[in-house]
Amino acid sequence: MLDTNTDGVDQRVSTGELPSWQRIDERVTEAYERNVADEGGRVADYIPELAAVDPSQFGICVADVGGGLHSAGDADVEFTIQSVSKAFVYALVCAEFGHDEVGRLVGVNNTGLAFNSVMAIELNDGHPMNPMVNAGAIATTALMPGATLAEKWENVRTGLSEFAGRQLTMDGDVYRSESETNTRNEAIAKLLKSYGRVTGDSTGLVDIYTRQCSLRVTAQDLAIMGATLADGGVNPVTKQRVVSPIVCRDTLAVLATSGLYERSGEWMFEIGLPGKSGVSGGIVTVAPGKGALGAFSPRLDSAGNSVRGQKATAALSRSLGLNIFASDSEGDRHDV
Ligand code: GLN
Repeated sequence: MLDTNTDGVDQRVSTGELPSWQRIDERVTEAYERNVADEGGRVADYIPELAAVDPSQFGICVADVGGGLHSAGDADVEFTIQSVSKAFVYALVCAEFGHDEVGRLVGVNNTGLAFNSVMAIELNDGHPMNPMVNAGAIATTALMPGATLAEKWENVRTGLSEFAGRQLTMDGDVYRSESETNTRNEAIAKLLKSYGRVTGDSTGLVDIYTRQCSLRVTAQDLAIMGATLADGGVNPVTKQRVVSPIVCRDTLAVLATSGLYERSGEWMFEIGLPGKSGVSGGIVTVAPGKGALGAFSPRLDSAGNSVRGQKATAALSRSLGLNIFASDSEGDRHDV
């Protein structure tokens, strides 16, 4: 890990403001209408049950840190959270172990390789490196508090439910479908075990990870979950503290470099915000101090990222002034 020695330095925040309520509503509707007719990409089919989804579904929701919700399309349709869960389980594990320990145990660097890469483990002497792809995420789930696998699973479910502000439940059909075809994730867990990176029952560990991926959410849930990370760890709808501001900062830093698999660089170039995608077509994108965007559309690009989800997010990043790298010498940030 980089030794930056900031012990004792006062931690200030760097944030801005969203446009007015009505302006957000208009921009969300506009982002939906611009992209609704786009049929690009293909639905994931390596988990058989995911192939059965209606590909025309498309929903977006912006949750602001004041608890306001701005939706368009199928923002209340449930789908399985899949890899988007990695962001929130990572936050829960950071809350348990802290910055230095999680950095050491899992790592915080992008692998530049596909989400289910085995090579990424081999190239790094068995170190999983990136908590936002399967190897690092399975190693992260292993660190969840709980004396038994059943307790760890319950802590994953309740922890993610606190982010969402409602009790999340598992989609049994998707869980069974993935469990029956999960050989690759089981191989990844066994490889991590062979390097001593995880201990105990690796098949049971993958079972929890598969359950975690099978939790049902909506685009609105993702927006609220993301807005909790944008709001220093307080769910802006329930007002419950879920994690600390430092955990949010650390989690968003990892999403910024690794949230969109091997396309994370392109994502940052176009959208300029931390985000996390999943193979069922969900994407959460976080604007620190402002709010978050949940998007759902099942057709994916070749890296497994929702095509319309990325396009709608890119439009909103621009029209709502969210890109963290955007500044203007004219100072138009005051003109909202
Ligand atoms: N459950 C999926 C898997 O492990 C999640 C992958 C993803 O969303 N990219 O294969």
